[in-house]
Amino acid sequence: MILIGIALLAASLKPISEILAMVREGRLHRLWRVLSSLIMLFMVGYAAFGILSSASHTVRIADIIVSAILLAGGAFVLIVAQLSASTTRDIVRIAKLESDVIRDPLTGAFNRRYLDQMIDAEVAIARRTERSLSALLIDLDHFKHVNDTYGHPVGDLVLKHVAGLILHSCRTSDRVVRYGGEEFLVVALDSDLDDVSTLGERLLHQIAGGSILLPDNTQLKVTASIGAACLRKDTDGDDFITRADEALYVAKQTGRNRLCTSPAVASQVSAKPEHVGILRDPWLAQAI
Ligand code: GH3
Ligand code: MG
Ligand code: MG
Repeated sequence: MILIGIALLAASLKPISEILAMVREGRLHRLWRVLSSLIMLFMVGYAAFGILSSASHTVRIADIIVSAILLAGGAFVLIVAQLSASTTRDIVRIAKLESDVIRDPLTGAFNRRYLDQMIDAEVAIARRTERSLSALLIDLDHFKHVNDTYGHPVGDLVLKHVAGLILHSCRTSDRVVRYGGEEFLVVALDSDLDDVSTLGERLLHQIAGGSILLPDNTQLKVTASIGAACLRKDTDGDDFITRADEALYVAKQTGRNRLCTSPAVASQVSAKPEHVGILRDPWLAQAI
């Protein structure tokens, strides 16, 4: 009975190692590790009891009862470990399905469905807490030409590359959405027009400054145009994405590979010196 108990405990280590592989490092992971160490300790205890009880020549009823309890304990641990592994597998599968529903499979950015679910709530929170909320609309320049020249798979490679740059550059609180075919929207929480403009300028440089290695070992360079806008504090409107789109239109019309901002409340307009490639509010106010 003791040997069977030890075998059951040993068998429970397999589902626990599966759980450890599925659970990220952290408190939960550490607890499962502690549990597997405890099970190994139990195995040693079972073995010690087995040796001691077999050393005595008389068969005691108490030993039989304890052995039966230890056997049942081993079965209990195995069943709990198997149920936990199965539940963890289900949770991981559901979490993946949930993530798939709101993510674009090509780039890993959020999709429009997620944006539609999230934007009203974020606008409401920003208004209630009087925090800034801003948007960057990023559109690749002459992307149709990339597709036409190098083919759709290379176009996809470029989209993945640019999405990677954007996702990497943004804060974890920023929401990066694939807004259209070659358009990405960044909704930046707790960020004003200055903050997103700084992010946008950094992205412009990263996108234009880098290059994408193509399957034939050539390097492809791309640029993007960006429109930026922030939620107006002085009005009820939540049209900041529309205004980012208008600013993007101006960036396209004025030569591409640049960032334009849509004016928010006057106090939020950047006071930084202008530089090549960046068009700021006074110009934009006349242009749209
Ligand atoms: P502009 O500088 O004015 O933005 O020009 P553009 O060529 O980037 O803009 P346009 O809207 O004319 O073309 C966008 C292209 O993006 C056309 C479409 O085929 C391509 N596209 C959209 N989605 C995808 C995709 O998932 N993969 C690839 N490879 N191309 C895509
Ligand atoms: Mg576009
Ligand atoms: Mg484009």
